[in-house]
Amino acid sequence: MNDIQHFINGAPADGTSGRFGSVTNPANGTATARVPLASVSEVDTAVSAASKAFQSWGTASLARRTQVLFNYRELVNARRDEIAELITAEHGKVHSDALGEVARGLEVVEVACGIPQLLKGETSTQVSTRVDVESIRQPVGVVAGITPFNFPAMVPMWMFPIALACGNTFVLKPSEKDPSATLRLVELAHEAGVPEGVLNLVHGDKTAVDRLLEHPEVDAVSFVGSTPIAKHVHDTASATGKRVQALGGAKNHMLVLPDADLDQAADAAVSAAYGSAGERCMAVSVVVAVDPIGDELVGKIAERARNLTIGPGNDPASEMGPLITSEHRDKVSSYVPRAREQGAEVVVDGTDLVVEGHEDGFFTGVSLVDKVSPEMDVYADEIFGPVLAVVRAESYEEAIGLINSSRWGNGTAIFTRDGGAARRFQLEVQAGMVGVNVPIPVPVGYHSFGGWKDSLFGDNHIYGNDGVHFYTRGKVITTRWPDPSDGGVDLGFPSNT
Ligand code: NAD
Repeated sequence: MNDIQHFINGAPADGTSGRFGSVTNPANGTATARVPLASVSEVDTAVSAASKAFQSWGTASLARRTQVLFNYRELVNARRDEIAELITAEHGKVHSDALGEVARGLEVVEVACGIPQLLKGETSTQVSTRVDVESIRQPVGVVAGITPFNFPAMVPMWMFPIALACGNTFVLKPSEKDPSATLRLVELAHEAGVPEGVLNLVHGDKTAVDRLLEHPEVDAVSFVGSTPIAKHVHDTASATGKRVQALGGAKNHMLVLPDADLDQAADAAVSAAYGSAGERCMAVSVVVAVDPIGDELVGKIAERARNLTIGPGNDPASEMGPLITSEHRDKVSSYVPRAREQGAEVVVDGTDLVVEGHEDGFFTGVSLVDKVSPEMDVYADEIFGPVLAVVRAESYEEAIGLINSSRWGNGTAIFTRDGGAARRFQLEVQAGMVGVNVPIPVPVGYHSFGGWKDSLFGDNHIYGNDGVHFYTRGKVITTRWPDPSDGGVDLGFPSNT
């Protein structure tokens, strides 16, 4: 079993804290590596490397920064299969899904390659006599990025490419559950020419995260993970004067109106609910079926759900892999009998699935629970697994009322053929990302990703223009080059004439 290393100041570094976590292949339950859990002093070493590197990287030319990012794009693209294999081995998702996550991360690298265009400032000439005004944006300094297990490649790539392109240096703390793909991305960044200290990686748990949140030389924190930790990160880092964007959990609703194409809607619901075993923050976990199509829609979803092939992620026949840990699998499975006890109708129960030859893997089958009501646990909690709840609604108004009363507001979707209803929904729904006949509306890299309510603490969404805004500080310069004849003291407040 190998020991995974940190990557600090341009080089791999052994963990010295004496504390380790275990990395496991969820398809067979075998421990494959030990991941070091950084101490406060190891985090401090990484932050000081980033702080020192900022002195030169923060003023490196745009040409130099983008050259590195163009190289990086090519390297990651060439190694995408290798990165996807690392993801599958530690996360469990199927290879095609892992490749998709690398591709969506690369989209953000491609946007970062165009940073000169995004960082262009604004000027106003002659705002007053012989006075010009210029707005520019400058890097923030040292940025910390803390990422979740479910996208070990894509979510880090939502952060550091834009942060580095803007001239910041970075300390990344990936999930300790599946750290190898993230580490590979950092190694490749150095092959691409990222100078030492500019992009550091420390593995760890709460000790490492809390040190980053309070470290006086960390200027900004990007976090993606569950809602309680997002709130903790937001409140702690804000209290120490840092800017923070903390993206949290979700419970995404898909509204199906009676005029929708029900085959398309069923395909979409199954793909979005069970893809990546439901371990996506944009997964659809609730379908709201507006009368009278409930029975027909549930029938179509059930038929498709029963036909899914579940198995190890490295088997090309598998459509869905295992969950991340046995504890998480057991927790996810527990919602199905509880839903039955609380009065829901379990249409498909996948909780007793055994994958032959992989009896020790963390598998569960897919479950579909109908006639769910908001007070049931299966509705109220973020389950983060392949359990889809269906709520019946009598009208559009009842459905949107339900969606808008959720504590989360990450993604949502409407399925309909009625343009007017779709338009009304996109204006009325309280969520940050809306799909119209699109079940997982993850914005492309040149827009920005983020939810509302308990799905995001802070105001900037991640990547795209919001990312550039978050990773830079604005400065406005007012300039007068006086004529030799100008002069004289004036104690009045500056006004423009
Ligand atoms: P998590 O909150 O358990 O962990 C996220 C990060 O926080 C990890 O790096 C972890 O080491 C660290 N962490 C965990 N406990 C901590 C503590 N007590 N103090 C400080 N740091 C701590 O999340 P996860 O289980 O890795 O990921 C799944 C969650 O992430 C789900 O809730 C999912 O919805 C959410 N998520 C959200 C988005 C989004 O864009 N909104 C994207 C992906 C995942």
